[in-house]
Amino acid sequence: MKKTINDIDVFSKVVLLRVDFNVPLKNNCPTDCNRIIEALPTIKFLQEKGAKIVLLSHLGKINHKDQEKTEQDKAKNDMGFVAPKVKEYIGEGFFYCASMDRKIIKEAVNKLKNGEVILLQNTRYEKGEEKNDLELSTFWADLADVYVMDAFGSAHRKHASTYGVPSIMNEQGKPTAIGFLVEKEVQALSKCVVAKEHPYIAILGGVKVSDKIKVIEGLLEKADKILIGGAMAHTFLKAKGSPIGDSKVEEDQLDFAKKFLDIGKNKIVLPIDQVVINNFDNPTDIKYTEDVKIPDGYLGVDIGIKTVELFKKELEGAKIIFWNGPMGVFENEKFAHGTIGICKAITSQKNSFSVIGGGDSAAAAIQFGYKKKFSHISTGGGASLEMIENDGHLPGIDIIEDNEKSENNA
Ligand code: ADP
Ligand code: MG
Repeated sequence: MKKTINDIDVFSKVVLLRVDFNVPLKNNCPTDCNRIIEALPTIKFLQEKGAKIVLLSHLGKINHKDQEKTEQDKAKNDMGFVAPKVKEYIGEGFFYCASMDRKIIKEAVNKLKNGEVILLQNTRYEKGEEKNDLELSTFWADLADVYVMDAFGSAHRKHASTYGVPSIMNEQGKPTAIGFLVEKEVQALSKCVVAKEHPYIAILGGVKVSDKIKVIEGLLEKADKILIGGAMAHTFLKAKGSPIGDSKVEEDQLDFAKKFLDIGKNKIVLPIDQVVINNFDNPTDIKYTEDVKIPDGYLGVDIGIKTVELFKKELEGAKIIFWNGPMGVFENEKFAHGTIGICKAITSQKNSFSVIGGGDSAAAAIQFGYKKKFSHISTGGGASLEMIENDGHLPGIDIIEDNEKSENNA
């Protein structure tokens, strides 16, 4: 068990809190604040305990190889776009420090009073963040007395703010702990890492087999059944010799798919019918196939009605369900039936613990009104998959102190 914020004394201490405020932006405004909202319980708790809170988060991607690109990326991913939203949630006592000047940052942190919060600029403005740079990590570590990890969505990254800083603070003998969001995520996802109850059914979809090979392999050991839909199903269907028309296939993954189908013979369930179109960008003809075969000149964009029924049957009585990857191109409502059908099938299982790990699948479930019906929707797409792949381990969480070690200063 990792030390949590309940186990440490934060009164009047400077707490460096790594959060995940990497929210989607449109016209420089956050369009979905779920990740900010999910971080609030930890922030509020620390405020009430009288901590001085320094928030660190990355936002978007910054290319540091080409100077012109760096400037463009910085302009697009300024934490200043997120700060007003955070202020709305936190209210009085919230400050934002846009400057990258270390003296200014230090002074701003030193000025904090108990219960106040300061958000620093995008961590990726610093070239050293993604390199886990020692000098940068030391600067951040020296700002604070305590480190708290609550950025579940970034916990699979060994970056300065997620890994370098807590490593140094551990060495300095300063407390490190996880926040409430990470605690909640770990508790939920652990059930999908080692299933204590069966049947454990995994549902996989989305685009790429190649992105998800490791998790697919991991699930073959852990789950009792794996239901596969979405674009990735076509690679498996082709590997089985089924005609898939013009559907996108990852030719370089066919061998993997064959091997996987062979090893997992009794576990893997593939679609039995499809929704197909004649052109991806400009579909003028939509067909529902009778069986799994896709005619030439057509490509599959959703699983069919019979497949939804089949998957629903497979889900009956499931005790644990893990879902990653939409069943079709759900962004277009005409091809969203499979994904909606799966949301319904999963959430209608009584007595089952259901988890979504995957950015797009989570967005789909929320968009279709199923947010409250799942047991847990992870805030981390990549992190949740890596946690399953790596048997419950993520570097940004592993580096946090264990609870036993800290009992005497708790
Ligand atoms: P997640 O973020 O949940 O892990 P992915 O990023 O792997 O999921 O995949 C999401 C994308 O997969 C969606 O944008 C969706 O449109 C696409 N997709 C699903 N099924 C198909 C399909 N049959 N053909 C093309 N794209 C698909
Ligand atoms: Mg995605």
